[in-house]
Amino acid sequence: MNMKVLLDYDSCHGHQMCAIAAPEVFGSDEIGNAKVLITGEIPAALHVKVRRAESNCPERAITIIE
Ligand code: SF4
Repeated sequence: MNMKVLLDYDSCHGHQMCAIAAPEVFGSDEIGNAKVLITGEIPAALHVKVRRAESNCPERAITIIE
C-alpha cells in the first residue's frame, strides 16, 4: 500500500510527538515546528510509525494519504 504524509504547518505547535514516534519521517524546522523529511512515498517499514505519529499529534496536524 502506498502512503504519503501531509503536514498542516499552520496547526503544528511543535510538540515533537511526531518526531519521537517516527524520527525517520518527521524532524523539526528552524523554529521547532515539525518538518516532513520524506515528502514522497513512505517506505512500508515505516508505516506503523507514521500511523502512531498521526494518532499522537495533539493538533491533528498530520494527514496520511493512501
Ligand atoms: S506532534 Fe503534531 S503538532 Fe506536534 S510537532 Fe508533530 S505535527 Fe506538529
